[in-house]
Parts: sequence; structure tokens; C-alpha cells
Amino acid sequence: MNAANAAQAAYIVAALLFILALAGLSKHETSRSGIVFGISGMVIALAATIGLATRSITAGGVALLVIAMVIGAVIGLWRARVVEMTGMPELIAMLHSFVGLAAVLVGWDGYYEVEAKGGAGFPGSLLRIHHAEVFIGVFIGAVTFTGSVVAFLKLSARIKSAPLTLPGKNVINLGSLVVFAGLTVAFVIHPNLGLLIAMTLVALLLGVHLVASIGGGDMPVVVSMLNSYSGWAAAASGFLLDNNLLIVTGALVGSSGAYLSYIMCQAMNRSFISVIAGGFGIVASGADDTDYGDYREINAQDTADLLKDASSVIITPGYGMAVAQAQYPVADLTRKLRERGVEVRFGIHPVAGRLPGHMNVLLAEAKVPYDIVLEMDEINDDFEGTSVVLVIGANDTVNPAAAEDPSSPIAGMPVLRVWEAKSVIVFKRSMAAGYAGVQNPLFFRENAQMLFGDAKERVEDIIRAL
Ligand code: NDP
Repeated sequence: MNAANAAQAAYIVAALLFILALAGLSKHETSRSGIVFGISGMVIALAATIGLATRSITAGGVALLVIAMVIGAVIGLWRARVVEMTGMPELIAMLHSFVGLAAVLVGWDGYYEVEAKGGAGFPGSLLRIHHAEVFIGVFIGAVTFTGSVVAFLKLSARIKSAPLTLPGKNVINLGSLVVFAGLTVAFVIHPNLGLLIAMTLVALLLGVHLVASIGGGDMPVVVSMLNSYSGWAAAASGFLLDNNLLIVTGALVGSSGAYLSYIMCQAMNRSFISVIAGGFGIVASGADDTDYGDYREINAQDTADLLKDASSVIITPGYGMAVAQAQYPVADLTRKLRERGVEVRFGIHPVAGRLPGHMNVLLAEAKVPYDIVLEMDEINDDFEGTSVVLVIGANDTVNPAAAEDPSSPIAGMPVLRVWEAKSVIVFKRSMAAGYAGVQNPLFFRENAQMLFGDAKERVEDIIRAL
């Protein structure tokens, strides 16, 4: 077997391992083996690609390759070790931007290798396909690149998460696609640098506009959509580089990311098309100046007394629990209450925190038993009849406006119906809004009381008082 055939065989094994990785990652119990499959596939893919490359590049080229890999690996390891769970979505968004940028560079390189040399070395019949590949690869890559950078800036709160609503934004999006289609036709007929530059600029601006137009509440879907775009960008690069594994892997990432986005849209009652088209059809609502009345405060001692008398407690954690790292005292409190015979369960919203499964990971880390951690659909009917609900650092995911106020920016998003319980205690530091920037009428309900302060400190106070 020659080296090229060996590399193709290794690519098939790697592709199978990536499929097994996806299958493993879809369930809690098999996720570790999924990770192992994924790492093994990537090691095989890298080894085969480097092996192939060393046959056609000089020793100096190999040295550059190794230096680039070592620098990349060191930065990657360092970022992965220091990143907080709460910073995960922005890290993912940043990584997607690299895939997009790589696809742009591969496309431009394809242009300089072939089109700029008058189609040198390319059989005439395939030349037009190459023109189209360059154009489509650069377009998807550029949209992914700037879209991911904007998502990163929004998720890390470096820019406001509210949607940008330029007049005629749908016309801008659709118009950009029409311009892209026109430029593609022109490039396929008569490839030249001017067209490539024009299209790259249009795509870069479209990426910024698409993601800037999406509000904070829809960000989870955007991250998963950008994941999908980065897959398609990689697949486009695979065609240009004639690399089968990149095509297969890109298609896997592209289609699974698109499917995940679709499922998330269903869970949040959002229109899939509306979200991927940059908030197409979403009407911006003005600032909420509704007077909801007064809120009531409670302290840790009184909360402990309430819990002592409770027969059932549901805890709904959110982003604030992650920020405060309150999962350990929360697990402690759960143990103490269960020892006293109180039924304690957790209600997990699909997008609580900053990435799907965020809360499940934190609770598993603190050794909360899986069987008392329930998904929103499993527990939503049980709030009615529950003595006390502890809302620990959650806000948007327990906002009754989503269910009751059709004019709310988060209207229609399924939420945990915590307000149906007898008593609701909300742990947060102030009256500030949640991620979507929307006021929460729950805080002003008769049966709700605010327990202000850092969630970890307040839960520890309650444990002491118990
Ligand atoms: P939110 O982000 O709506 O609210 C978090 C709350 O935690 C805030 O009101 C904040 O109030 C409070 N908080 C912050 N720090 C602390 C602390 N140290 N101690 C106590 N409280 C604290 O949380 P949810 O989890 O309810 O909602 C998630 C939101 O994030 C949704 O809008 C979702 O769409 C979005 N999102 C979700 C992603 C996902 O995949 N899960 C990804 C990206 C976004 P205060 O400042 O007053 O303390």
C-alpha cells in the first residue's frame, strides 16, 4: 500500500471514530467514551495528514508545520485548562471564528494557486467547478468568521446583547445573498481578484449583521448555528484541498449543528428560519416601563425556617449558580433537607446557564444524584403543589412574561412555571435583568420573595441556620 492509500484508509477510520464520538456524546452515560473516540479520530487524522504533507513539502516546510502545531497545541491546552464553565460558549464561538478564517485563507490560496495563474494545472472541464468552490468556501468562511467574532463579543459581554435593528434589515440580509449569487455567476464566467475582494467584504459584513441582529435570548441557537456554518466552511475547504476527511467531518459538523439548532429552536419556541436569518421578522420591543409593584425581601434564617416546614422543594438553578460556584453548598443543602425527609428535586431548563447541559454538568460535579435532576418537561406540572421553589441565579428561564405577555421579547419561550408553587425564593444580588435584558414580573408576585446576595454565601447561610 502506498502512502496516499494508507492516508485514505486512515481517513476512513478517523471518519468512523468521529461518527462514534457523536453517538457517544448524545448520552450522559456514554459521553466519556464519545470524547475518547473523538480524540482518537483526531490523532489519526492529524498523523495521516502530516504524513501526506511531508511527502510534498521541504524540510523547512515541515519545521514550520511542527512549530505551528506546537504553538497551537500549547495555546489550546492553556485556554481549555483556564476556561470557566461559564466562559465555554464564548470560547466555542472564538474557535468557530478560526475555522471560518481558515476557510477564507484556503479559498484565497486556491485562487492564487489556480485562477490567478489562468487555471494552471487544472483540466478545463473542472475549472469552473473550482471557481465556484473558491467563491462558496470564502463566502461561508467569511460569514462564519465575523459572525463568530460578534457572537464572542456578545457572549463575553464586551458588546451589548440586545439585537441590532437597522431599518430594512431583512432587505440587507436577502440583498447580500442576491449580490453573492450575482458575484458567483460573474466569477465562474470570468474569475478576477476584484470580484473575490468584493464578495469577501460582502460576506464579512453579512456575518456581522446576521449575528448582531440576534438578541441575547437566542444566542444558544446562534452558537450552535455557527457550529454548523463552521462545518460547512470546513467541508468547502475539503473540496478545495481535495481532502475527503475534511469533507466528511465538515458535513458531520454542519448537519449535526443544524439539527441541534433546530431542536433548540423547538425547545425555545423560536422559528428556525427566523433565527438563522438574523432575527428575520422579530419586531424590536421598546423598554419595559411597566410598574409591577413592590417586591418582598427575605433573609437566610427565615428561608431556613420555611424549608424546615416544607414537604417538597424544587431547586431551579441558572447562570447565577454557575457564577457563584454555588453547586457545592446547593448539593449540601439538598443532602441536609433529604435527611430531614423533605422531597428535593431539581428542574433544569434546556438553556439555563450559558450552554445546553451547563447545569447538569455543575450538579454532576457536586455529586447531586441524577435521578432527582429532572428536565423542564418532566417537572413543569409539579410546581403546583410544591411547598417551596428555590430559584438559584436563574432569571429568564423562570420568567412568567414568556408565557403570559405576548409583547415580551421572550414571548413563547417555554419556561419553568415556578410561580405556581406555594412559595418562591429568588437568589440574586440585585433587581438587575437576566441575559435577555427583560424585566421579570416573578419577583413582584405575592408568593415570591427575594434573597439578595451572592448565591453561594446565601446558601451557606441557610445551611448554618438549618
Ligand atoms: P439569566 O442569565 O437570565 O440570569 C442569571 C441571573 O443570575 C441574573 O439575574 C443575575 O442577577 C444572577 N446572578 C449572577 N451572578 C450571581 C451570583 N453570584 N449570585 C446570585 N445570583 C447571581 O439566567 P438563566 O440561566 O435563567 O437564563 C439563561 C439565559 O442565557 C437565557 O436567556 C438563555 O437564552 C441565555 N443563554 C443560554 C445559553 C445556553 O445554551 N444555556 C447560551 C447563551 C445564552 P444579579 O446580577 O442581580 O445577581
